[in-house]
Amino acid sequence: MPKRIRFSLNRFVEPTIPDGAAQVRYGLVEGDTLFETRTPWSEDQGAAYRLADVRLLPPCWPSKIVGVGRNYREHASELGNPVPAEPLIFLKPPSAVAAHGDHIIYPAISERVDFEGELGVVIGRRARFVRPQEAENYVLGYTCVNDVTARDLQRKDGQFTRGKGFDTFCPVGPWIVPCGEVDFERLRLRTLVNGQVRQDASVQEMIFPVGAIIAFVTQFMTLEPWDLIATGTPSGVGPLAPGDVVRVEIEGVGALENRVVRG
Ligand code: MG
Repeated sequence: MPKRIRFSLNRFVEPTIPDGAAQVRYGLVEGDTLFETRTPWSEDQGAAYRLADVRLLPPCWPSKIVGVGRNYREHASELGNPVPAEPLIFLKPPSAVAAHGDHIIYPAISERVDFEGELGVVIGRRARFVRPQEAENYVLGYTCVNDVTARDLQRKDGQFTRGKGFDTFCPVGPWIVPCGEVDFERLRLRTLVNGQVRQDASVQEMIFPVGAIIAFVTQFMTLEPWDLIATGTPSGVGPLAPGDVVRVEIEGVGALENRVVRG
């Protein structure tokens, strides 16, 4: 199964600046090998590298990250919220993006930072006024997202921008699996903290599926290629502490792992 990645040959770029001065390259991963491609979209096979020898960059560099709140029934109730009648949409800034392996920086001004494992949808074509049944034509593929949230600040502010907007609060990756390769019926999402399973749900349990989300969002906002949708988290969210390693696994998509460090 070809997995599309962005990478840099310099493994030692400052990890909290997602692209930094690194020269961005694109490739397809097969097993432990990656084949460089000329463009993010092409299928040509250029130079081959060992996956272990390169630094993975976030697989997309979105102009915006669209989040969906309360998209799983049990998660809405665990936070004491009603199930919404239509998708509850918020934005995370692109500066929050972090790659697989980057650190999540625990801000000094928060005392409660939660993980939220989510299926990520990467947009492939400019999308505006899309109907649900044609939404898949606008999807490049799927990836793993951690919608990291400073829950205390989200509650205090009464809105999401600060609580979900810190630098490194949107780990994404490690790669994009094209939508034709993904069997939605079987997609299972698990989040592990230090190896312990904390979230375990079928993506089928989403209240608003991917097509409905894209249709809803594109009624008011143009989605551009590389934009990222974080489709909501299942129940089991909980706190992180500096030193923790958090892993979002989606069967058939990948596993995104990040260590939490004190800011
Ligand atoms: Mg979320």
